[in-house]
Amino acid sequence: MTWRLPALVAASAICMMTMPMLAPGDSDNAEKDIKPDGKGIGSLLNPGKGNGRDAKPARPGGGGSNGINYHGGPVMLGTTTVYYIWYGDWSGNSATTILTDFASSIGGSPYFNINTTYYDGANRHVSNSVAFGGSTTDSYSRGSALTDADIPAIVSSAITSGRLPGNPNGAYFVLTSADVSETSGFCTTYCGWHTYGTLPGTAIKYAFVGNAARCPSACAAQTASPNDNTGADAMASVIAHELEEMITDPKLNAWYDRRGYENADKCAWTFGSVSLLPNGAYYNMTLGARNFLIQQNWVNAGGGYCAKSY
Ligand SMILES: [Zn+2]
Repeated sequence: MTWRLPALVAASAICMMTMPMLAPGDSDNAEKDIKPDGKGIGSLLNPGKGNGRDAKPARPGGGGSNGINYHGGPVMLGTTTVYYIWYGDWSGNSATTILTDFASSIGGSPYFNINTTYYDGANRHVSNSVAFGGSTTDSYSRGSALTDADIPAIVSSAITSGRLPGNPNGAYFVLTSADVSETSGFCTTYCGWHTYGTLPGTAIKYAFVGNAARCPSACAAQTASPNDNTGADAMASVIAHELEEMITDPKLNAWYDRRGYENADKCAWTFGSVSLLPNGAYYNMTLGARNFLIQQNWVNAGGGYCAKSY
């Protein structure tokens, strides 16, 4: 059975994009994803949002033939390896299992295959290949009120201490527990962000994603959730968003549209057709053994459109 999501939770998001950073801690250059506010911001970019179908805008939102443009920078090629840093206190939280399963099963999916429509200047396409490379924990090494500069410092510490490898094909996620704030605007202006920096001599792509349970009205599309964990299920969609942006725009100089929207930004908080589970939660795809409600992504083909598979 297919159901429509309420328009409120399907509202789009705005996004900031600025020049690339060359070193960690230069927070103004991160690509930050702003919460949906329910007011329909971005509706001109996503005219089909919230209609319960995979939307194909009549007029793509950017200047290229597919509504998104290549700006000459690298994309991530081959297998991308996802690493998690569980920051704060995640003890007893099923998120560690749910989101590990998610990272382990998104590669090879019809959903992630959308990213293969992106390529670099030598026409080398992104692969539909993601591996989960492991995780580590960080018990409040920088307190419970983090600045943007703390995020690369947390990643750097995990690498230099040998808890995680320094992998130029890695995508590092700092995942904070619900009692941790990110003072530049988590829960008020964004739910996650990604950027890159030169950490221990290697160009490292990293992202911040906070536990949406801290602010479900801002960062979760629904309170009932497919895996009975509101925060973790909402984080899965934000992790997908940041991961596909990291891969197609790792240095913030590859794929984005004339408004600075990267691929996932163009479809943020849209889910296409959804189905209802017995626990009252909606989902729109099955990855591995679990159901998830994951935002759509922009297909860089066929004129460009939001979809949940390609
Ligand atoms: Zn984004």
